[in-house]
Amino acid sequence: MRFIQKDNLIIPSKTKEDSLPISQILTIPNPTLNPAFNCNPELQQRLTGKQLLLDDLPFPLTDIQEHYQNGYLTYRKGVEKNGKYSICARCGNKDPQWFAAYPCARCGEDCLYCRSCLMMGRISECTPLIGWNGPDPEIQNPDQIMTWQGTLSEGQKVASDHVVEAIRQNQEHLVWAVCGAGKTEVLFAGIESALAAKKRICIATPRTDVVLELTPRLKAAFPDILIASLYGGSEDRHLYAPLTIATTHQLLRFYHAFDAIILDEVDAFPYTVEESLQYAAVQARKPASAMIYLTATPNSNWQRECRTGKRAYTTIPARFHRKPLPVPEFSWCGNWQKQLKKGNLPANVIRWIKTRIHADKQILVFFPHIPLMEKALTILRQIHPEIEAVHAEDPDRKSKVQKMRNKEIPMLLTTTILERGVTFPNIDVAVVGAEDTIFTESALVQIAGRSGRSKDHPTGIVTLFHYGKTEDMLKARRQIVAMNLEGFKKGLLDKQGAAK
Ligand SMILES: [Zn+2]
Ligand SMILES: [Zn+2]
Repeated sequence: MRFIQKDNLIIPSKTKEDSLPISQILTIPNPTLNPAFNCNPELQQRLTGKQLLLDDLPFPLTDIQEHYQNGYLTYRKGVEKNGKYSICARCGNKDPQWFAAYPCARCGEDCLYCRSCLMMGRISECTPLIGWNGPDPEIQNPDQIMTWQGTLSEGQKVASDHVVEAIRQNQEHLVWAVCGAGKTEVLFAGIESALAAKKRICIATPRTDVVLELTPRLKAAFPDILIASLYGGSEDRHLYAPLTIATTHQLLRFYHAFDAIILDEVDAFPYTVEESLQYAAVQARKPASAMIYLTATPNSNWQRECRTGKRAYTTIPARFHRKPLPVPEFSWCGNWQKQLKKGNLPANVIRWIKTRIHADKQILVFFPHIPLMEKALTILRQIHPEIEAVHAEDPDRKSKVQKMRNKEIPMLLTTTILERGVTFPNIDVAVVGAEDTIFTESALVQIAGRSGRSKDHPTGIVTLFHYGKTEDMLKARRQIVAMNLEGFKKGLLDKQGAAK
């Protein structure tokens, strides 16, 4: 779009005369708020805390412009020029490779657009990012905000108190909770007190699966609170809600929206590798706001910051059932890849599997690569025909995981796709080829965390079959041992029946 600058305003223009694409306007004026103006409540609902494109808004441009001229709405440059470099204001992309030019019908020029966030609608040099500058919609609180009546473990309670306090004080806080500690419940008190203070909260996570799993749990805990559940293709996109659960991708549409963001699984793909998602999380926060990070496996940088007092954090070193985390055992299995290519699996791996199949103990076995896993599957089906294998692109992934849950199959082979997020009540876990670089410290801690999760079966065996121990294997084991030690010291673990 092109705009004319006039009387400390910018006005959309269809002609090239005296007008410029928005990115070429030096400073965009923001008219002062006219309290006498009657804003459109529908536009207010859709736009509060957002940064949207004209195409996202089903209102005539004249309406939008009127709100701008009365100070209720802002235009920002979609793509900003900083010297030679262009920066996408929505996703923060500044890599020239991720911009492309096209002959644009809207401004009649060769227009540079961001390829990095293209899936959220095209942002180019002539695209205004539209935001809200008027008052927020009124939120009416129900008499009772939370109906959840469960109890917290001692470890959870400490973390929960710190979350409440961090949200109240607009601080950053990391909750480092072991796999199976029950981290969702730790958030409830913080969410409740924030909602009571009419704050707007978001729980964001890199994975859609987690959004889908958290939504019903939060709706059950906060039944009279409007909750927006956002992921690609979700129906709630236009909902203005006090509580939002979203994938980190969806945060790209938010701007200065939340008084508190709770970022779940900060260490999970794609959040860790895509800088735009980290940028989005920062943009979605209000300038004065709280940020709560939740993870079972902070990266080594964060671990160091915790140790040296540079990062505020709370650990939950023990699971709800008060039994220690299973500590991985290492077992050398020689050149297993070479053996697989010859149609064999190492004898100790076969023995480990057979023992469990005969004892009716379900097992989850991780492989670093799909082709080798498929080879192993053929061999293992001679032991038991019902064994299955899954990977990320497997169309039957969900049904196979369900079969495992239903105990219809004795064993599931998997890539790292099942390293987190799945719970089977009573399993032993193995990794074949634990020396592979795909098995990072955090991946191995997560994998080990699959076993011993339920109250009825709080222990389990985790074996890492390897062809040479790696630093990551050692670090993962050290992290687990340290958490168990801390759990004992703090009296959060029972003394008897401790796993080795
Ligand atoms: Zn253009
Ligand atoms: Zn972008």
